[in-house]
Amino acid sequence: MSTYEPVLLARIHKEQSHTLDSYLADGGYESFKKALGMTPVEVTTLVKDSGLRGRGGAGFPTGLKWTFLPKDHPGPIYLAVNGDESEPGTFNNRILLEKDPHQVLEGIAISCYAIRSNTAYLYLRYEYGAAWRALQKAVAECYERGIFGKNVFGSGFDLDVRLHRGAAAYICGEETGLIESLEGKRAWPRIKPPFPAIEGLFRKPTIVNNIETMACVTQILKRGIDWFKSIGVPPDPNNPRDAGSYGPKLYCLSGHVNKPGCYEVPLGITARQLIEEYGGGVPGGRGIKAVVPGGISMGFLAPSELDTPLDFNGPGKVGCLGLGTAAVVVIDDQTSMVDVVYNTARFFAHESCGQCTPCREGTNWMQRILHRIRSGQGRMEDLDLLLEVSGGIGMMPGTTICGLADGAGWPVKNAIRKFRSEFEEYIQSGRSTIKPCELIGAH
Ligand code: NAD
Ligand code: SF4
Repeated sequence: MSTYEPVLLARIHKEQSHTLDSYLADGGYESFKKALGMTPVEVTTLVKDSGLRGRGGAGFPTGLKWTFLPKDHPGPIYLAVNGDESEPGTFNNRILLEKDPHQVLEGIAISCYAIRSNTAYLYLRYEYGAAWRALQKAVAECYERGIFGKNVFGSGFDLDVRLHRGAAAYICGEETGLIESLEGKRAWPRIKPPFPAIEGLFRKPTIVNNIETMACVTQILKRGIDWFKSIGVPPDPNNPRDAGSYGPKLYCLSGHVNKPGCYEVPLGITARQLIEEYGGGVPGGRGIKAVVPGGISMGFLAPSELDTPLDFNGPGKVGCLGLGTAAVVVIDDQTSMVDVVYNTARFFAHESCGQCTPCREGTNWMQRILHRIRSGQGRMEDLDLLLEVSGGIGMMPGTTICGLADGAGWPVKNAIRKFRSEFEEYIQSGRSTIKPCELIGAH
């Protein structure tokens, strides 16, 4: 077991950890005061030099994103904080917001100061009722004590933090869908470029950052760059484009494990360590068939790939899309990969916003073909058809407005490549694993 002492989750087991009094007693908002004593450029440089990469899924360098804002823009500039956590298996942001909302709000305050924004919007997933209540209380406390509002801490800096509850749709978490939703419209993603940093909310420069990223900003201000860089994985010397995978990460472990939960460990832990040392292994001592490394759109690790480091590079080296949200889902050897992939396809078909034909049609076709296979009517050529729809040139990948289509196709393509014999045996057997209750409303 790693000797790493959690920092982001350090306070969550304390009584009343969500209150301002509790947070202040632990030195809360001192990092914000420290930032106010620096220039915005100095704070941005600090975050950039820390190597912090966004924790929402893409791993884009946070400080670098901030520098994309137009210089000398008259404003307003906005910070939109993405709490629309909807990737299946992902719940790290929920825990932070329910148990330690002030750590996140402090990161938001620091980030606003750094990017010269006086207004932050925190967009929260509709289903997160407890987090919503904790946040409402925490924001009100900050206004009451002069942490938010006009001239905070007598610094001359004004800060408004506004909460917005989402609409229970996956696509609201796509950054431009989120922006559209904040503007009161249907969450249809926009074509990029322009990226939000240039033209975002209300057509003004906007930085979209994730909740866990905000908590990391608080800790970087508090503990410094050397602390942050002492954790995780340095850049790969053989890859000049690699920015490294520094800092702690909240891994969400679920599925067939004895102790599911959200674990804070250094970036770069392997799937096997996480499952065995933290998750207590698979119930009943059963074997592992596959592991989702970071949210369902990333694909699957095969049993031979469990020693893959779960940093920003590792999963990509074994055919997965990336680390994604670091939501690790364990699938035991009693589970049918056909069922797993069907559920994945059904999810994305339901969540596609329908703007782009390859996504709207492709997700639907994949679901229908997989349903046919599951119902015992599959044909061998269906597997190549699925590979074509999910990954063929001019089909789903790279032909759509946002990344949902790529994320929908990847697990299908990846599962067929890695577990093809299981799909073939399933088709040959002509059996069906569909339960009668599933037929209601099925295609
Ligand atoms: P992306 O790589 O397109 O962009 C990442 C970020 O960098 C964005 O904020 C984007 O605006 C910015 N960026 C990139 N290039 C830029 C440039 N040239 N100029 C200015 N800004 C630039 O990825 P994405 O579509 O934002 O995110 C995809 C990821 O989201 C997936 O990998 C998935 O893991 C994750 N995801 C997370 C959840 C969740 O619940 N947390 C849900 C769905 C998807
Ligand atoms: Fe909508 Fe899919 Fe197009 Fe994204 S890729 S904009 S979800 S149709």
